[in-house]
Amino acid sequence: MPDASTVALSIIETGRRLDSRGLAPATAGNYSARLDSGEILITASGTHKGRLTEAQLMRVAPDGTPIDAGKSSAETLLHCLVYAVDATVGAVLHTHSVAGTVLTRALAGSGGIELEGYELLKVFPGVATHDARVVLPLVDNSQDMLALAAELRPLLEAQERLLPAFYIAGHGLYAWGPTIEAAENIVEGCEFLLACAWEEWKLKGAGR
Ligand SMILES: [Zn+2]
Repeated sequence: MPDASTVALSIIETGRRLDSRGLAPATAGNYSARLDSGEILITASGTHKGRLTEAQLMRVAPDGTPIDAGKSSAETLLHCLVYAVDATVGAVLHTHSVAGTVLTRALAGSGGIELEGYELLKVFPGVATHDARVVLPLVDNSQDMLALAAELRPLLEAQERLLPAFYIAGHGLYAWGPTIEAAENIVEGCEFLLACAWEEWKLKGAGR
């Protein structure tokens, strides 16, 4: 990873793009990147992700303890969890979309979001054809990040090949990759796939 300032600029640009796609309403979402030092550069709490400034990014230790002044995202511990589970992760992005909210509420308690037969499944590492089935982990929403992280950890660690994403029901997506760009691709892929799944759900509901 380049120096912290360059990483910060990449996060700011990513925030603008995700906001322009409707994936960061109000102050929703949070983004982070792992620096060479092992510290995590993360968005501060309550910031608008389409209008981020460098001063709204701060460093935390791998366990989430603030290094710089300020209050990091309320969901910092979930970012820390992803970095702890996979040493190759360089960036984590958390987005809120309409489909990712509505469909995951409908599927709450099912344990996973099944996606099958879509061309864009190829966004996931190791998937080379549309003729595949991917089940993204889905957990119930909670404001208790310690409890949520404790619930997620075994779900992530149980995967034979770790999928770079999970959803929280009625809340949103966590996606990651070795770089910010790679994580952004996973966000776009997942949110597109959820939008497709939601449209299909509506079609079936209409009896077609
Ligand atoms: Zn959130």
